[in-house]
Amino acid sequence: MRTDDARHNGQRGYRLSNALFAEIDRVVDAGMWAVAGLRNGTKEMKAIGAGNPFPSKDLENPALTAAAIKEEALRFGFDGCGISRAEALDEDAARLQKWLDRGYHASMAYMGRHAHKRVDPTRLFEGARSVISVLLNYYPSGTQTDPRAPVLAKYAYGKDYHTVVREKLNRLLEWILSGSAPVHGRAFVDTAPLLEKAWAARAGLGWIGKNTCLISPGKGSFCFIGTLLVDIPLQYDNPVDDLCGDCTFCIDACPAKALVAPRTLDAGRCISYWTIENKAAIGGAFRDRLANRVFGCDICQDVCPWNRHAVPHREKDFDAPPGLLEMTREDWFNLNEEQYGRLFQHSAVKRVGFEGLKRNLDRIVD
Ligand code: SF4
Ligand code: SF4
Repeated sequence: MRTDDARHNGQRGYRLSNALFAEIDRVVDAGMWAVAGLRNGTKEMKAIGAGNPFPSKDLENPALTAAAIKEEALRFGFDGCGISRAEALDEDAARLQKWLDRGYHASMAYMGRHAHKRVDPTRLFEGARSVISVLLNYYPSGTQTDPRAPVLAKYAYGKDYHTVVREKLNRLLEWILSGSAPVHGRAFVDTAPLLEKAWAARAGLGWIGKNTCLISPGKGSFCFIGTLLVDIPLQYDNPVDDLCGDCTFCIDACPAKALVAPRTLDAGRCISYWTIENKAAIGGAFRDRLANRVFGCDICQDVCPWNRHAVPHREKDFDAPPGLLEMTREDWFNLNEEQYGRLFQHSAVKRVGFEGLKRNLDRIVD
């Protein structure tokens, strides 16, 4: 049961009241995405309107409307689409700088490079006026069957998301460019210095949860984000309220204590960093903190009550190859290079290579 997962993953005894779970169910069932917060202590939610006003409507080119783009995005298989004005993200810039100053990016020096581009899309694409953000759900219908098997992050079950999202995004961009409106654009999928989550949040697709993930009511956080920059004005969406409220499941459940404050990740402690980004040997201090994770880590998402409403993805490319989810603990430790190549040929796991995966397995303790 999804409910039980949310309450017990991590086995640290954290609890939210049944009343709050019921409230989340009620909001999601009613489709009330725009709600006025889980107020501290009161656990109250109230609707704040049926839709977003579109203040830029007068500026929109009638040959290419926001509504048409959103409709087309859904037709191409995306699970959500929102649009925001392309402008400098001053608050995010300050937050990013503080994060970098504290060294929370660990050895990911590239995070600090082009920081000015990350927070201002017009520096990435001259003339950008609108940011189109799309979501693609990757929540799987099943997970690994052996409870003792080293755990693989769900996003790595199927084909590398960079390829899948980029293909769809390019098709959407082609569609936009092929219309009668004079427009130029560029697509981004986690490949350029762009704060995708911040843009998706501004476009009303969700809020940035305390686990630093974008949480979309009704969809949860197991979604990839793609971004298009275009040089025409469109109708812009409004952000939704932050609905984390007084919940701290993700912070309490993190075995590495990497969420040092709400929405602040010390990457140097995070299992995802240690099993994917870090190229060096895994230090002794982290040996017992991998929590049986072999590539990536979903713990702070698995425990999030908003993911109880995640529905399985519809993207065939995200299906795991035959046999992957059925691998036993022994299978994992006996994995050879030929099997690795067959199972992960198109997967994001290729990023660490066979040796990197073996390194991670070596660091998993009983
Ligand atoms: S991914 Fe894992 S280690 Fe990183 S913050 Fe989330 S729970 Fe902690
Ligand atoms: S688990 Fe974390 S991200 Fe999810 S609602 Fe609770 S505080 Fe927010």
